[in-house]
Amino acid sequence: MIRFLGTIFAGLLGLAFGSFLNVCLNRWPDDESVVSPRSHCRNCEHTLAWWENLPLASWLALHGRCRNCQAQISWRYPLVEFSVGALWAFQAWKFLSVALDPALFTHALPMRDLYQALGDLLVSMILEWMLVALACLDAEDFWLPDRLTLPGTALAFAWVALAPALQKLDPAYVPKFSMGFQIESAAIAAMINVVVPSGLVLLVRWVYQFIRQREGIGMGDAKLMAMLAAWLGLPGALLSFALGAILGSVAAFAVLAVPAWRRGSASWAASTLPLGTFLCISGIVSSLWGKPIIAAYLRWSGF
Ligand SMILES: [Zn+2]
Repeated sequence: MIRFLGTIFAGLLGLAFGSFLNVCLNRWPDDESVVSPRSHCRNCEHTLAWWENLPLASWLALHGRCRNCQAQISWRYPLVEFSVGALWAFQAWKFLSVALDPALFTHALPMRDLYQALGDLLVSMILEWMLVALACLDAEDFWLPDRLTLPGTALAFAWVALAPALQKLDPAYVPKFSMGFQIESAAIAAMINVVVPSGLVLLVRWVYQFIRQREGIGMGDAKLMAMLAAWLGLPGALLSFALGAILGSVAAFAVLAVPAWRRGSASWAASTLPLGTFLCISGIVSSLWGKPIIAAYLRWSGF
């Protein structure tokens, strides 16, 4: 019951933060304040009443149109709200399975598992919110701002590097190595995790630039890759890259097949696809199901 209520609460909180994210997505590209003025229609400036500003519910009640000017409200609004809500609910469900485990109170399960789960919960909530933000910004504006990717990388890196220190908080823990050594080696491993996948993106970028003589992959994609790598580790990051490339190719074929989907008048070879959006989606997928996907792949390939 507590697990159920906790999950619902996290989901509602996610809806609210998804709603706030929609405001950020509208205002960041124009460098406007996300605090004032109050939420208003982007078309007619009509200030929204509280009941027109409820996540998901208002969009459904208003049939996706402004009450004042009937302008269409993009389906990005409910999609972002639902995504953040669902992701946060899922993370809370996962955390509560550890936090409510009776083995924790009989000390059959070490306390550090609880601290680890709590840290994972908070870090995942923040990073998944950022990934939803980056997916939308790249899709709408081809923009992966440093203000998200750099703090995201720093947060993920700090969490992965400092997690071993949690063991010290566990009274039952007997250290094999000194704490300093453990944090240091975790930091070095995290560093390698970050450098290899973002190096891979930079290499692809360089090869493309060399062959085509123009920019194919932005620096933003490399920084996004660093963020995913710091968080998910090397296997998770490579999985995200592979899934992102597959998603991107499927999208590219779709664009080829349906001429109306091409952006602008550019020829098909020059029409741009937001690689960052695909990387964000595949990053979220591999944060949720990375381990089973990699295990299934290794079994299938006979390792
Ligand atoms: Zn309006």
